[in-house]
Parts: sequence; C-alpha cells; structure tokens
Amino acid sequence: MSGPVDAVDAPALADVGHPAAPCVEVSDSREETVGKIRVRRALPRRGRRTVGAWCFADHMGPADVTESSGLDIGPHPHIGLQTVTWLTDGQVLHRDSLGSEQVIKPGQLNLMTAGGGVSHAEEATGHYRGTLEGIQLWIALPETTRNGPAAFEHHTELPQADLDNNAGTATVLIGDFTGLTSPARQDTLLVGTDLDLRAPATVPLRTEFEYALIVLEGTVAVHGRPLLPGSLGYLGEGRDELRLEVREPARAILLGGEPFPEPILMWWNFVARARPEIDAAHASWTSQDDRFGRVRSALPLIPAKAPYWPQSGENR
Ligand code: MN
Repeated sequence: MSGPVDAVDAPALADVGHPAAPCVEVSDSREETVGKIRVRRALPRRGRRTVGAWCFADHMGPADVTESSGLDIGPHPHIGLQTVTWLTDGQVLHRDSLGSEQVIKPGQLNLMTAGGGVSHAEEATGHYRGTLEGIQLWIALPETTRNGPAAFEHHTELPQADLDNNAGTATVLIGDFTGLTSPARQDTLLVGTDLDLRAPATVPLRTEFEYALIVLEGTVAVHGRPLLPGSLGYLGEGRDELRLEVREPARAILLGGEPFPEPILMWWNFVARARPEIDAAHASWTSQDDRFGRVRSALPLIPAKAPYWPQSGENR
C-alpha cells in the first residue's frame, strides 16, 4: 500500500503515553481509498501512533477485482520503514526498485525493507478476478537500519500453532509466538500474528510488550469489549496472556512489541525522525534522482505529496 499518511491520520502533535498497564482502548479506523480499493486505516490514528514498532495498518477490502478495478498503486517511495503485505483473499503483484517481481497470495508474507530509500508498485496481477482482502502493515525501522540498504523477502511458509485444542490457528508473521519463530527479518522486538479463531482461546503474551488487535472478520471480545472490523483495540502492556472470546468464527491480527523508544515523524510514505529528512525524501522523489531507483511498472508514478508543517513549534 501507499500511504498517504497526513495530518488527518497523525497530526503533528506529541503521541499520548503508552499505558504500562493492561487496558482495552477502542478507536475507530478511518476509511480511505488507496489505489481503487477501500481501506480501513487502524494505525496511525490521533492519539495512537505506534504499537511497538508497528506504525501503520490498512485493512484493505473486501473488494471486487474486475477488469477495471483492482489494486493499482503506481510506483511510490518509502524511507525508514518495512512494508508487510498479508492477504486473506485474492492476489497482488509487487514490483520494486530492487528488481523484485512477486505475486502475493493468501498465506504468504511479503516484506520490503525501505532503509534509506526504495520504491515499489502494488498492482493487480491482470488475470485474477474475485475478492481482494488483506492487510498492509508498516514497521518503523530503528536507528541502526533506517538509513541502511533496502531489501526484499517473500515467505511462502510460516509457522502455525494450534490454539487451545482446536480453538483456532495462529500463523506467526513476524517474531515469536507460542514458541514458534517466523523466518522473516526482525529489526526490533516485535510480533505479528494472524489468529483464525473457531472458538474462544487464550493466547500467551509477553508482559514487556504492548499489544493491539485488529479484527478482520467476525467479532472478538476482550474483557467484555467487543472488537469488530473497522477498529483498533489497543491493549497496553503487562499481560502474560489474553483471553479472546468468540461466538462465531473470527479472524484477527494481533500486533505487539516493545514500545518504540524514539518518537517518529511520519509523512506520506516516509518514516523519519525530523523534518529535513522528510523534505529531502520529498525532493528526491519529485526530482527523480537516483535515491529511490526505478520500478518496472506500466502504472504512472505517484507524485510526492508536499510536506505540510504546522506554523507553531509543536513538532520537530
Ligand atoms: Mn507502498
């Protein structure tokens, strides 16, 4: 997915604190159109910018892919983040400036590391017709890798765990969960898991991680609070397990991680720490210098959105 992340999603104000205690804070996602697909943006939201290093979550679809409608996101740049694309239905074609060309299908993890600069396009495959649904997540990179080389991984096999004697299945996208480790690169301590629930289940958590739940299908209740598609359930820190109540089959993404140690600055498709970095990335994409390379795509380049900085000194 391309952003755009702008002042509507993440105004240039200080983030609220990260509760060190368990909680259930429910915030509504914001509807947005990306390419030709409706998405529900659960992160970032006002007051909730990050969960661990997770800094962006777009639940895309379900949408019909036809001859004239599909995910058609032309080449656009990223810095300072990883994109994680995870489909529950349909297909998407990923192309990037590293030369990668990869069809993404349900159950496969597509992970692109931007480092100091990469560009990619996310396209319809051309032949797939049917429903498209999935989630795109961004992970903020730490100081050690955020200016480093770009990279691309695609994992067709991920570890899966049975939950509570057949209550459901957990697929480990990133990090460790129930003793199983994803093969995907991980630059900070974090976890991302797809939970396919058929019955109530209890899952193990790490007390030093903060967590959030994004329900893709059905309803999952946490401490009596129902979470539905179109919202983010922020769960705070300090739990060693989590009880998930379901009355019908449900699908949810559980995100967690150590609270990100540095404030991040997000604009459009860029994650940085300070304004001059965003201004420089914007200038590079606008002038099409060598920083973001070239993507072999027939789709038009997405023009950079000019940074908007508030007049007051509320942000750096
Ligand atoms: Mn993108």
